Amino acid sequence: MALQLPELPYSLDALEPHISKETLEFHYGKHHQAYVTNGNKLISGTEFDEMSEVEIIKAVANNPEQAGIFNNVAQVWNHTFYWKSMKPNGGGRPEGALLNKIQDDFGSFDNFKEAFATAGATQFGSGWAWLVLDNGTLKVTKTANAGVPLVKGQIPILTMDVWEHAYYIDFRNARPKYIETFLESLVNWDFAAENFDNH
Ligand code: FE
Repeated sequence: MALQLPELPYSLDALEPHISKETLEFHYGKHHQAYVTNGNKLISGTEFDEMSEVEIIKAVANNPEQAGIFNNVAQVWNHTFYWKSMKPNGGGRPEGALLNKIQDDFGSFDNFKEAFATAGATQFGSGWAWLVLDNGTLKVTKTANAGVPLVKGQIPILTMDVWEHAYYIDFRNARPKYIETFLESLVNWDFAAENFDNH
């Protein structure tokens, strides 16, 4: 069971005009594919070959000698989760139980948005901003490079890639503008609600 590049949940041009077809051709077609290809080279013929992505990530997360496997497999998993965290005509607000829980744990939906945008903007260098469920409480967190909250026992609800390759073609260096666009026009609250309801 090798690592696989999953199908995108929409066409390459579906997120335009916010995220261009060119960005997805590189980000999905080259970067995500490279993590799959390099991860497979590293796990081929090892005990990890028969494990799921999450099993591999958990098995190697605290072993510096296996950082190459962690980085590639975690990036495969993170990107698959990120594609699902967006949709054409996304944005707006969640509904129902997830909205209530966000309001309970952050005080208001606007407070959540501010915390999420700040996490993305202040992640120095490459990484990810996340909405996670941590011991029953919704929290915003950020991870560097290939970091994955699930190795800390947190349940990922939503993520945003803040590596430069996610936004440089469309937004150049303006990471905050990309983050604002993600929240206003791209975020897939249906996916977040599924993750919340299934936790
Ligand atoms: Fe990326």
